[in-house]
Amino acid sequence: MFSRSPDLDAKPKAKKWLLDNKEAGAIFMAAKDLLSALYTGSNDGYIDTAQVVQYRFNSRKEGYVVVTGRKKFASIEVYGVETRDIEIFKIFPGSMDADLENFLASFRNREHFGFALKNEIYFENEILDEFRESVEEARKLSKAERKKKIDATSGVPAVKTRQVAYHVRSPYVVAERLEIANGRCEKCGNPAPFLRDKGRGTPYLEVHHKIQLSKGGWDELENTEALCPNCHREKHYG
Ligand SMILES: [Zn+2]
Repeated sequence: MFSRSPDLDAKPKAKKWLLDNKEAGAIFMAAKDLLSALYTGSNDGYIDTAQVVQYRFNSRKEGYVVVTGRKKFASIEVYGVETRDIEIFKIFPGSMDADLENFLASFRNREHFGFALKNEIYFENEILDEFRESVEEARKLSKAERKKKIDATSGVPAVKTRQVAYHVRSPYVVAERLEIANGRCEKCGNPAPFLRDKGRGTPYLEVHHKIQLSKGGWDELENTEALCPNCHREKHYG
């Protein structure tokens, strides 16, 4: 039996693997952090062995989920208790194309043998995507159908609360990128469209991650660019 600890400093081999394998390490950490937000139990943590680095989420009843770092790869494996079969749900070959979000979305849909969910959890982008889809649907209606829908709404906006998982971004990376851009969009080269604080503040630009944090991108200078709002929207919706 290996002992488990959620404290990385207690697991030097795990820590070393993460430092040595930056790309796969980012995927490993993204998976681990997001699964931690969903995990119902308390018996989770790193295990380190000579061969692999693992973060285990245990559930005696339902099975368990293991995030593994092996050589240069990160993977997520779901083991079912019922069958004792090892079901490798998906393996990410440590590439930036890793479809982490789709995998994690499958947890919400319970297409897995892992642990029960603490709460219904949403990811940052999904709330915007969901609304955009609703707008697309609404546009398909006829003018009369849409009027009916509008008339049926009270006009008072409803308030909903949700648990949202998001990546914490470094303000220092953002500040440094804005310094480098020096008031100009790094894509189209145009000056920022306005100054913050009614013209008294700094040029308004948005710092974009070239590889999204949710896709295993790093929160570091090389992965960012300062964009004008138009270029930024185009990156996401164009
Ligand atoms: Zn631009």
